[in-house]
Amino acid sequence: MAVTKTVDVDRIKQAYAGGIRLFGENRVQEFSQKSAAVCDLPGSSWHMIGHLQSNKATWATELFNAVDSVDSVRLARKLNEAAAALGKTIPVLVEINIGGEAAKSGLQPQSPELDELLTQSGEMGSLSFEGLMTVPPYYENPEHSRPHFRKLRELLTKLNDRGLAQRMPALSMGMSHDFEVAIEEGSTCVRLGTAIFGERQSRRPV
Ligand SMILES: *Cc1c(COP(=O)(O)O)cnc(C)c1O
Repeated sequence: MAVTKTVDVDRIKQAYAGGIRLFGENRVQEFSQKSAAVCDLPGSSWHMIGHLQSNKATWATELFNAVDSVDSVRLARKLNEAAAALGKTIPVLVEINIGGEAAKSGLQPQSPELDELLTQSGEMGSLSFEGLMTVPPYYENPEHSRPHFRKLRELLTKLNDRGLAQRMPALSMGMSHDFEVAIEEGSTCVRLGTAIFGERQSRRPV
């Protein structure tokens, strides 16, 4: 996935011409300003990967093809209602706060809300629960991310074994500085911003 936050429409089109079809944006507001120019590129798919406030669920459902950052039952319910009203089915990933960091969004691996979300997923007929996503703590040395990636893979296996929801195949993990390690640990989707487009104003994900 090419992460196009802060990237302008011209450079997004260059990336598309270079063969990229899967894109991620982390702000509804920012994407709403670019979407008319890029969302109809044939075969392109646009995923919301940033924290989404429930009051923007309808807006996000109109703009995006998928939401990879579902982090509460409340948000999932709002997305389901919005998708149903639009007659769409929206693929979603559940975001996990794998490092337990206070400043990060995502459900804790052991949280009752994660169980509750997956248990209720069958009733949310306009969402398709596809897997898990995480942004681990930042380390200079990508090897230090490995235990977090492994933990997410093991969590997915455990959740699938428990059968709370439909079987989920996807693990979205790994960014520009640690994607090789993430792939070794079973990532099915790496999210690359700076590795493709160069440095942004801020190096850290926002
Ligand atoms: C910005 C962002 C990325 C990409 O980060 P890079 O380090 O530039 O590859 C990936 N995932 C999320 C959720 C982001 O916000």
